[in-house]
Amino acid sequence: MLNKFLNHIAQTSDAPIGLEVNHAEGPFIYTKDGKRFVDFISGIAVSSLGHRHPKVVQAIHQQVDKHLHVMVYGEFVQKPQVDFAELLISNLPAKLEQIYLVNSGTEATEGALKLAKKYTGRTKLISFKNSYHGDTHGSLSVTGRDIYREPYLPLLPDVHFLTFNSFEKLDLIDEKTAAVIMEPIQGEGGIIPAEKEWLKEIQRRCDKADALLIFDEIQSGFGRTGKLFAFEEYEVVPDILCMAKAMGGGMPIGGFASSKEIFQSFKYDPPLNHVTTFGGHPVSAAAAHANLKELLSGEYLSRALEIEKQVKAKLQGKGIVEVRGKGAMLGLQLESWELTRKVVEECFEKEILLGWTLHSNTLVRLAPPLIIEDELLNDVLDSVLEAIGKHS
Ligand code: PMP
Repeated sequence: MLNKFLNHIAQTSDAPIGLEVNHAEGPFIYTKDGKRFVDFISGIAVSSLGHRHPKVVQAIHQQVDKHLHVMVYGEFVQKPQVDFAELLISNLPAKLEQIYLVNSGTEATEGALKLAKKYTGRTKLISFKNSYHGDTHGSLSVTGRDIYREPYLPLLPDVHFLTFNSFEKLDLIDEKTAAVIMEPIQGEGGIIPAEKEWLKEIQRRCDKADALLIFDEIQSGFGRTGKLFAFEEYEVVPDILCMAKAMGGGMPIGGFASSKEIFQSFKYDPPLNHVTTFGGHPVSAAAAHANLKELLSGEYLSRALEIEKQVKAKLQGKGIVEVRGKGAMLGLQLESWELTRKVVEECFEKEILLGWTLHSNTLVRLAPPLIIEDELLNDVLDSVLEAIGKHS
């Protein structure tokens, strides 16, 4: 099977992890050769309620028995989309009144950028170094890492990169700016939370210039940081909010929320100027609705904060430069690439999945599912400490 995988599935690196998955349940992924891995990265911040949460699986079954795709997005009334949107919007600040549903994170970014350009009639975009917004051309244009951008130049023009958490060059946010796009907590950049006063200043600058503020919460959303969305912690509400990843409880779906006024610009000049065939697929939307209902009714958000507390208490100072992040979106800053690699490899040997982030090779990503229980959490942290101790 591995050979066929390598042969027929287009590869994006020379070193795929290559686990042969048999099934997955809760915090575990079971392989064909009988191993049980603890998924401590949740499929990269996707399965926050664990794999195959029963409520999500049930909603999927029920929807499959009713209908699959029936029409391109936005033309027919599809109950799973409406139910999800109603519940989500009722849990967002008043100015985020509607959501446009897509299939993935990068599509949410693309839509948000187009919406901002259309609404403002401007083209200039401001982003941040070490950001990650997706791999399609528009998203890559605002992704702040040259090695990923350079092979694909020219990308969108008039994109400017500022330094995250720095007050320098904020004057670039001016009356020519369509939008500032940012992750309130940079994920692939190395789990770096924005500082509150800085984020507030960004919003003030946007307000002054009538530029839109786009938050990419594709990774930080849906409870991962202990809030439904990370921005709630900051008292800053974006004009457009992008989401995906954990949104569908393991099914592919994304979206971007904004005001009715801003979304008007997708209706006219010309009509239908942003369409998608599969966006908000009914099975994914049903899963997203069940996932959100469960997330809001359970103790998941407080559990995320408890996970942060336990991880920090147990790991801080123990051969680790810094334990960073919020809730269950955490990173261990280590001293060297070598040590980082050894820790990830050794934990893998112990059937624990940890990961890197795309823009950092000295950071171990921790993104456990919010359902993880204390005993398993502690076992994993013991293994991490052991690996660090052994290789430091
Ligand atoms: N934005 C952020 C902050 C992300 O973390 C990611 C995925 N790592 C994306 C956008 C892109 O999402 P997708 O892979 O679903 O296109």
